[in-house]
Amino acid sequence: MTKEILCAFGVDVDAVGGWLGSYGGEDSPCDISRGMFAGEVGSMRILELFERWGIKSTWFVPGHSLETFPKEMAAVAAAGHEIGMHGYSHENPIAMTPEQEEAVMDKSIQLIEDLCGRRPTGYVAPWWEFSHVTNELLLKKGIKYDHSLMHRDFTPYYVRVGDSWTKIDYSKKAEEWMKPLVRGEESDLIEIPCSWNLDDLPPMMFIKAAPNSHGFVNPRDLEQMWRDQFDWVYREMDYGVLTFTIHPDVSGKPHVLMMLERLYNHIISHPGVKFTTFDAIADDFAARSPRVK
Ligand SMILES: [Zn+2]
Repeated sequence: MTKEILCAFGVDVDAVGGWLGSYGGEDSPCDISRGMFAGEVGSMRILELFERWGIKSTWFVPGHSLETFPKEMAAVAAAGHEIGMHGYSHENPIAMTPEQEEAVMDKSIQLIEDLCGRRPTGYVAPWWEFSHVTNELLLKKGIKYDHSLMHRDFTPYYVRVGDSWTKIDYSKKAEEWMKPLVRGEESDLIEIPCSWNLDDLPPMMFIKAAPNSHGFVNPRDLEQMWRDQFDWVYREMDYGVLTFTIHPDVSGKPHVLMMLERLYNHIISHPGVKFTTFDAIADDFAARSPRVK
């Protein structure tokens, strides 16, 4: 059986928005300067790396980064990479009201449309926090795929909405919480699953406000973890999707860029493997597995 292993780099340009919305650096000029590095320097190094490899990727760009780094993000779009949504200031969708979440999506769609001449088709929730209305809002806006959930690891699927579960309340009788999760209904939204184990940020970015922050992990350890996951997928699956989440804040640094070069050379040496965009992966999945209603 021939292998069809679709790989993709998702580049989350969190930059200053990441410090405003998620990493707790909004009052630190130093942390903000790290965000400026990501937008102005790191993103351009990654763009150049993709150019050298001759691959197309998907950049999930917060509105804040689109408006703060217009020259750099225009270069990304001009090079033919896909641009997807990733909040405005990397807001936590669970902390927002549905109205706020929709306003952020509308602004994000408009900015991407202005840059690319067409609406985005994909979304990554900041911090991968998918609210109880995210699915509904994405479908309302005509978004094809999401990349924030983890029900599977290397196989896309259709997102189910309305799952409900019972939290423990120790002030009540145990019978009140001893209930299984109840599954909701499947929707048209395609999920290209994400994974903390394929994300450069938790192990490689020092975050002062995070109690368990890393930032000093040897990239060769990360390389081994990512390579083992690819090797397993390639051995065990005929069709699989492997997506790497990288951030210019992290992967724009030399030691990580060199790790990516070694990893890419290993992966691409296997027959039947191709690097493409998330949009292409979603279309391929929809053709392969039309939704049964
Ligand atoms: Zn992000």
